[in-house]
Amino acid sequence: MARTDIIVLGAGIVGTSIATHLVKRGMSVALVDRQGAGEGTSYGNAGIIEGNTIFPAAFPADWATLARIVLKRSPLANYHLSHLPRITPWLVAFRAASQPARLIETAQLMRPLFARAVAEHESLAAEAEATRYLGRNGWLKLYRTQEALDGLAPELELAERFGIANVALDRDEALALEPALAPVFRCAVHWTGAVSVSDPLALTRAYATRFAALGGLMLNGDARTLHRASPHWRVETVAGPLDAGDVVVALGPWTPDVLRRLGLRLPLAVKRGYHRHFRPQGNAALNRPVLDAANGYVLAPMARGTRLTTGVEFAARDASPTPVQLDRVLPAARELFALGEPVEKEAWLGARPCFADSRPVISRAPQQRGLWLAFGHAHWGLTLGPATGRLIAEMMTGATPFCDPKPYSAERFL
Ligand SMILES: Cc1cc2nc3c(=O)[nH]c(=O)nc-3n(C[C@H](O)[C@H](O)[C@H](O)COP(=O)(O)OP(=O)(O)OC[C@H]3O[C@@H](n4cnc5c(N)ncnc54)[C@H](O)[C@@H]3O)c2cc1C
Repeated sequence: MARTDIIVLGAGIVGTSIATHLVKRGMSVALVDRQGAGEGTSYGNAGIIEGNTIFPAAFPADWATLARIVLKRSPLANYHLSHLPRITPWLVAFRAASQPARLIETAQLMRPLFARAVAEHESLAAEAEATRYLGRNGWLKLYRTQEALDGLAPELELAERFGIANVALDRDEALALEPALAPVFRCAVHWTGAVSVSDPLALTRAYATRFAALGGLMLNGDARTLHRASPHWRVETVAGPLDAGDVVVALGPWTPDVLRRLGLRLPLAVKRGYHRHFRPQGNAALNRPVLDAANGYVLAPMARGTRLTTGVEFAARDASPTPVQLDRVLPAARELFALGEPVEKEAWLGARPCFADSRPVISRAPQQRGLWLAFGHAHWGLTLGPATGRLIAEMMTGATPFCDPKPYSAERFL
């Protein structure tokens, strides 16, 4: 029987960052995943470390947008009709959390994590000799109408209050930054402090390599085998059973698979999303990720090509892929930027693990000694992985947490 101080379940960006922070604090740590580090949701994102995030994604505030989604005409969201009965309570809570006052509250509660996001990546990437994957050109959000830009006023006011750098640009100024874009938009905001990742898989792998170099143990195993073997927790791995006094569950969208078995039900939903890479046409190139706000897609320059990521899809996590949103946004994306041939035959599908209040759970599990939770990072798991790693490692080792962890407690659902 092998023993370790702490088992971290899930080697996505969140679990890998946690494991690295723990091992740096002198704990013996095993990081367990059924596949390689970073091959789950953390593989397929838009690669933006969005320390600039203020308001979370919100339920549509106007009926026209909602009607287009319901009629399946919107690129912003898609849904499986059969999934609606299951997701309705979550959507009702999401709508309540999307009221203007609640959005401001969320922005304030999440600020300490976002404010720390870039610095934590910078230091982990430096240690892991992975800074070559980080781009420091910010990210550019494009708006096709003046009304869309006017609607940003509350966000820009908060940005000023929080001290988050951004530059409002007219079309020509934006085109000076990104000459390969077509002038099909009206204006833009350049969030200059955001960092982009050219290869999210390689970045998580580099953090995992750093974890191993510090003495951490990486193992393949099925997290669903987690059970109490008093007084410890036990997980079955390819190397045999592994015991530890503490376990961190950081399985992203798969976390409920384990928690349900322990009698713990937290209201997590998934917002699925797709990506596909495209080869460049001629010399066309982007210098930073670009969001087309009206269409909800991002074009991100990456190692494998230009990665086009979609908005959200409400469907069961394991339901078959229905990448209709890629079809919906492709004409607009091609109009904006000269995308060449697709690199892969099929689109990649991932599932953002989301709570309706857009806050992750980073806390002890209720009523389960030695069980810790770190999941539900929604649209910002890449961004928040290393900051989450620091926070939970500080909590677990009795250090003073860098911010008040209460807003991220699982207790808020009980
Ligand atoms: C299209 C899209 C675009 C996105 N863009 C961005 C972005 O630009 N910026 C940003 O910050 N975030 C973005 N996100 C969100 C971000 O990717 C996620 O929040 C993040 O990857 C979640 O990380 P995680 O470590 O919690 O989960 P994961 O990366 O999914 O890791 C969970 C791990 O658990 C493992 N696992 C599952 N079940 C088991 C089991 N039974 N046994 C053992 N192991 C198991 C999996 O193999 C996986 O490695 C995007 C997401 C999508 C879908």
